[in-house]
Amino acid sequence: GKNAGKNAVREFTPEMQDCVNLRHRVQTKLRDALSGGEIDLYFQPKITSGSYELAGCEALARWRTDEGKFIPPNEFIPIAEQTGLITALGDLVFELAAEQACRWDSIHAMPDIAVNVSPHQLRHPRFIANLESILERTGARPEWFELEITENAMMDDVELAVQVIDQLVAMGFRVAIDDFGTGYSSLSYLKNFNIHTLKIDLSFTCDVTTDRQSEAIVRSITSLGKGLDLRVVAEGVETLEQAKLLESLGCTTMQGYYIGRPMPESDYLEWVANWDA
Ligand code: C2E
Ligand code: CA
Ligand code: CA
Ligand code: CA
Repeated sequence: GKNAGKNAVREFTPEMQDCVNLRHRVQTKLRDALSGGEIDLYFQPKITSGSYELAGCEALARWRTDEGKFIPPNEFIPIAEQTGLITALGDLVFELAAEQACRWDSIHAMPDIAVNVSPHQLRHPRFIANLESILERTGARPEWFELEITENAMMDDVELAVQVIDQLVAMGFRVAIDDFGTGYSSLSYLKNFNIHTLKIDLSFTCDVTTDRQSEAIVRSITSLGKGLDLRVVAEGVETLEQAKLLESLGCTTMQGYYIGRPMPESDYLEWVANWDA
């Protein structure tokens, strides 16, 4: 209740019960969704700065329930994380991406797909083995994928992350640090990670043109990326003004609504065809 004061932590309120019920409902529905084909991938294009060539895409999970209700990833990914369903979801996402990549490869659309890996997946003992078996089953090649791991997930257990990333790279995957700049990494750790890409969090992109701190942070990330010979992707680019500034600050790659929204496959292919034309 409102008057609980310092004892509030111990009290189990009706609101908390609602929250538990909601989570339980979502969990049950998500389990069904995983087996029932309700999870789909959308693809958001990336382009290189300067030459504006297509630089692949990011696969983003979408959940449309069979009642047609759309549930955004910011709602179901955290629940999947908390309930352990993320392992199955992550495998499904990679499998869908792998099948997609094979179809694109056969129509000469050079697959280059970034796939998100959650912290829980990274720690899972069968993570690597699951990826291997999906590659084997689908015939997809690891070089077609960049795996995006958040900065915080890497810093959670540095030793484990270093080891898993080394294995991924040995298999032929590329690895990106996602949401870079928002975590608590000490920069000295970067040299231990066998990564290819820094992905600047959209919180810096969104006010880079209006906030000098954000601009300074982007500038230091790009110079770090240059020094370490990494690709630097700016995500969440929404305006021409942002794109120009980010390019001049040294971002090598752009992703965001200004370039293209996340789209279902057919729209993505149409986007690619128009972009190339
Ligand atoms: P993220 O990996 O940082 O992905 C970028 C998010 O920013 C996506 O949201 C994308 O739609 C959105 N975005 C792209 N361009 C713009 C822009 O110009 N402006 C703004 N405001 N937003 C933009 P989405 O698809 O809702 O996904 C949210 C988060 O959910 C992702 O953040 C990622 O952390 C997680 N997620 C999505 N799909 C998966 C998945 O398959 N596996 C895992 N583990 N996480 C996923
Ligand atoms: Ca991402
Ligand atoms: Ca991100
Ligand atoms: Ca994010």
